[in-house]
Amino acid sequence: MVDEKLVEEYHSRTAASRHLPSRIVWWDETLRDGEQTPGVHFSPEEKLRIAERLSEIGVPLIDAGIPVVSEEEARAVRRLAEAGLKADILASARTVPGDVDAVIATGVKHIAVFIAASPVHLRYKLKMSQDQVVAAAVASIRRAKEAGLHVAFVTEDTVRAPMDFVERLYGEATRAGADRLVVSDTVGIMTPVTFRWFLDEFRRRVRPTDLSVHCHNDFGLATANTLTALEAGAVAPHTCVNGLGERAGNAAFEEVVMLLESVYGVSTGIRTERLFELSQLVEEISGVPVPPNKAIVGYNAFSHEAGIHTHGILAHTLTYEPIQPELVGRHRDMILGKHTGKAALVEKLKERGLAASDPQLVALLERIKVDSERRTKAELRSFLVEYRSRYGHPGLSDHDFWAMVEALRIAPTGGHP
Ligand code: MN
Repeated sequence: MVDEKLVEEYHSRTAASRHLPSRIVWWDETLRDGEQTPGVHFSPEEKLRIAERLSEIGVPLIDAGIPVVSEEEARAVRRLAEAGLKADILASARTVPGDVDAVIATGVKHIAVFIAASPVHLRYKLKMSQDQVVAAAVASIRRAKEAGLHVAFVTEDTVRAPMDFVERLYGEATRAGADRLVVSDTVGIMTPVTFRWFLDEFRRRVRPTDLSVHCHNDFGLATANTLTALEAGAVAPHTCVNGLGERAGNAAFEEVVMLLESVYGVSTGIRTERLFELSQLVEEISGVPVPPNKAIVGYNAFSHEAGIHTHGILAHTLTYEPIQPELVGRHRDMILGKHTGKAALVEKLKERGLAASDPQLVALLERIKVDSERRTKAELRSFLVEYRSRYGHPGLSDHDFWAMVEALRIAPTGGHP
């Protein structure tokens, strides 16, 4: 049961929600950045299954991938573009003519053209000057515009680039026809305060009409920074289901959505009651297990064991639950263990129409505690051994790699092939 008045009062404290955009363009990156999670690969069929679910849930824009990566990737993008989904399908391209043409060939209507912006990327990775970066960006944007595409211009590592260069690059991109500007915190080093400063400065100098952000989770701040960006005028946040993505991942879709829905009390256009089902589908297809303590979709996110908490929850769920589990397609679990209290037992016994006397409750509690303290950890340890061996190195095994090298008869350094 929800106490409307209590919830109302709590939403009114989040005055920031007044500054949110009226419609949020959820830009899903699960199939592109999410697929770049170490060890993850999606087949075209799998991409389609995830895209269909995203579209049904209300996600309006899906990045299907980078067609130039492989034949299979191009096939996947084409397949999604032709699937007739409600969501718009987007494909990504470096600022290289061949990349843009590969996107055009897939039949998508949306393109994200990307190039790096920071000195460290220009000097060591691209080996390009600022002038060359501007020229490449402008040429690619023009090429995509001529083909009639909606163009998002993305820079990697925007937040570590000099502000004057950011202003110039995005200004030229806008003049070349870019429809949407994307700012990236590629290495996840922003905090809500520094990101707010950066975005305010960006808006003051560049005056974007359609701002988007791409936040990484290296310090666990991707969701917080994405929220900050929405408050600072961004309309199209990049998110990944289960927070998948390079390294520590991207902003988690389910987290940003539920923050807005439950804490700010705004309607996001997302069918939240299907978030858990979406998470499980992506967990299954990506093979990346969701951590038990992951917000919203982790197995423990709605489980209670401690006596004090269970007692509170049974009296009123708002005591210890900021979200009604049903809102995200889940239910609450009462776990019996070392920290269980009497209230949970009384509730549990009701399932079978039983009512214990007080001494019986004490005896039952005693047995439960002894049982949980005695339980062996052998099973848990063997599970962890398997988990670590699999996720400690999710890609090709070293053994298989060296077998491939051997088959190609690769010569030693300094050797004569
Ligand atoms: Mn990324």
